[in-house]
Amino acid sequence: MADKGKVSRRDLVKTVAVTGVAAAGGYAPALFAQDLGAQPNWDRVADVVVIGSGATGMPAAIRAREAGSSVIVVEAEPDIGGHAICSGANIPLGGGTSIQKRAGIEDSPDLVYRDLTDWSLTEPNGYADYRFNDREIMRAFADNCAQTFEFLADHGVKFVNEKPDGRAGSAHGNSVPRQMHVWAGDWPQVQTGRPNPPETRAQTSNGNGLMRPLEAAARKAGVEFLLEHRMIALHRQGPNTGRVLGVAVTNRGRTLNIRARKAVILGTGGSSGNVNFRRMFDPRLTEEYCGLAGMPWSNQDASGEQAGMAVGASLWGAANQTLEIGDNITKPGKIGCQYGYVNLTWMPGSRVFDKARASGLRVGNWQDVILVNMLGQRFYDETGGGYPGNRYNTVSPYFPDSYRNARNVKYNPPNFIPSALAGIGDGHNGGGPIWAIFDSDAVAREKWNPAPPNVDFDAGFFFTANSVPELANKIRMQYQRVPMPTANLEDTVSRYNSFVDSGTDADFAKPRPQFKIGKPPFYAAWSNPVIHDTRAGLRINGKCQVVDMKGEAIPRLYCGGESAGGFSMHGLARCLCQGFIAGKNAHDETSGA
Ligand SMILES: Cc1cc2nc3c(=O)[nH]c(=O)nc-3n(C[C@H](O)[C@H](O)[C@H](O)COP(=O)(O)OP(=O)(O)OC[C@H]3O[C@@H](n4cnc5c(N)ncnc54)[C@H](O)[C@@H]3O)c2cc1C
Repeated sequence: MADKGKVSRRDLVKTVAVTGVAAAGGYAPALFAQDLGAQPNWDRVADVVVIGSGATGMPAAIRAREAGSSVIVVEAEPDIGGHAICSGANIPLGGGTSIQKRAGIEDSPDLVYRDLTDWSLTEPNGYADYRFNDREIMRAFADNCAQTFEFLADHGVKFVNEKPDGRAGSAHGNSVPRQMHVWAGDWPQVQTGRPNPPETRAQTSNGNGLMRPLEAAARKAGVEFLLEHRMIALHRQGPNTGRVLGVAVTNRGRTLNIRARKAVILGTGGSSGNVNFRRMFDPRLTEEYCGLAGMPWSNQDASGEQAGMAVGASLWGAANQTLEIGDNITKPGKIGCQYGYVNLTWMPGSRVFDKARASGLRVGNWQDVILVNMLGQRFYDETGGGYPGNRYNTVSPYFPDSYRNARNVKYNPPNFIPSALAGIGDGHNGGGPIWAIFDSDAVAREKWNPAPPNVDFDAGFFFTANSVPELANKIRMQYQRVPMPTANLEDTVSRYNSFVDSGTDADFAKPRPQFKIGKPPFYAAWSNPVIHDTRAGLRINGKCQVVDMKGEAIPRLYCGGESAGGFSMHGLARCLCQGFIAGKNAHDETSGA
């Protein structure tokens, strides 16, 4: 329904900057300025327009609505939640929460700030978790951290643990436990389409228990959700001047313009699913890293970043994206499928299983497989993990802001990720496919059923054959740039079998190789690294206002979560908190042009 009557004459005569967001990941139809013309014809209007209904968007929408603003949430997917609803919902919000106080844990905003700006805290691989964090952004997080936790609790989110701990992957500072785990409850899981089994319900932490209560609170407060509406551009008064006026969105082939009387908040979830965008930070991350965590439920297609940059926004904190720490890129936990993130299994019955196509084989013991590159060569000790990340007490003893923490550094080259991403010398930047090779004895030991819906034969993420050379010949798929040399795979398998005989991996020091690969049929299962986090994005200030290349806030444009830069922390806490901050500040803007 058009809302032209509510739009001021001044709006209509202004030159409006509209710049298209390039299609990314096969998702967004591009729309360019000439398609809209200079004067937007407003179809809808609200005080605050929030883009994305995930960890940033949902608290932002609730906070603005409960403060009295009308709010429209624009969500590209058919359901709410983004990565947040797929997540494990382990949330490190501290700073003196009620639950920390009850547990006798002394924490404060100042301690959160000091922890998350400690330049000296160094991982064993030499990388520093918090060195590149923006001080203004961290101060705002520290000051709002405990309030964000209380906000969640006040809006129906429950937790399985009675006191905070240090479990799970978020880098939340070394000094005190801050991690809480959300109770999944009876909510149907997006992963399975069903609630968790009754016997596990009481202890399971899951994003459904976070996002469904927040959705219910938002709807109750009167937030309007436009599902299957994709934001494709921001309207600003001039190309790099004036206030942001609203957004252009597409819905089933139609384009709508939504006016924001007060402000637009971008909570679009990051850029890691957009190959060209992510390669600005890390050229190795070419197209074969096609198993982004959280896909195919929702993508991180950089649409927020691109729309912001098109109206003059700056990027920020690029170092945090290239650091080899935490969950930026992870070792797959499941093999033989495209989406192999360790903690997310798409089961038949889930809303997106037709897109996921297979749920994968969960690897219980990495002694059961060898990993080879596109040329059939091993490249590291398969039992080795991914990047490290800091949390409570992982650096011990800990000396805040002191190089004494560097005693922790023990550089250990055989890490899965850099070796898996290494090229094969053909000029391509990425490492190409990584294949787990195993035999039928491994299948028996792992109790795998190597058949659909567990593995994806049709799209080329899983192969089987009765001999090793036949297996090498069969491996043909879009990312296998060169045929796997048959002799290479034969040599690799027979050399590895000799290591099992001798008890020593002479190449990569795998601890006592245990199992030969000898009993047909043989298998090759897709095992590429999974990209998980976006930690660089639009520059924001402490109010979560988007900042331009001159260092000035772009009036009426806010951003938070994985689409915002300057804050190295895995996951939910920063997103929820920045949504909490942005929602209030967007509400506080004056209404009108
Ligand atoms: C499997 C998995 C497990 C995880 N586990 C944890 C955990 O235990 N603890 C933790 O702290 N973190 C965890 N995370 C990370 C956490 O979920 C994310 O960091 C967080 O959800 C990011 O919040 P966000 O608001 O930036 O993006 P999201 O929550 O992804 O929300 C972004 C939303 O914006 C929508 N969107 C994007 N572009 C547009 C557009 N152009 N128009 C309209 N809508 C758009 C998306 O569809 C999506 O719904 C996990 C993530 C995954 C995938």
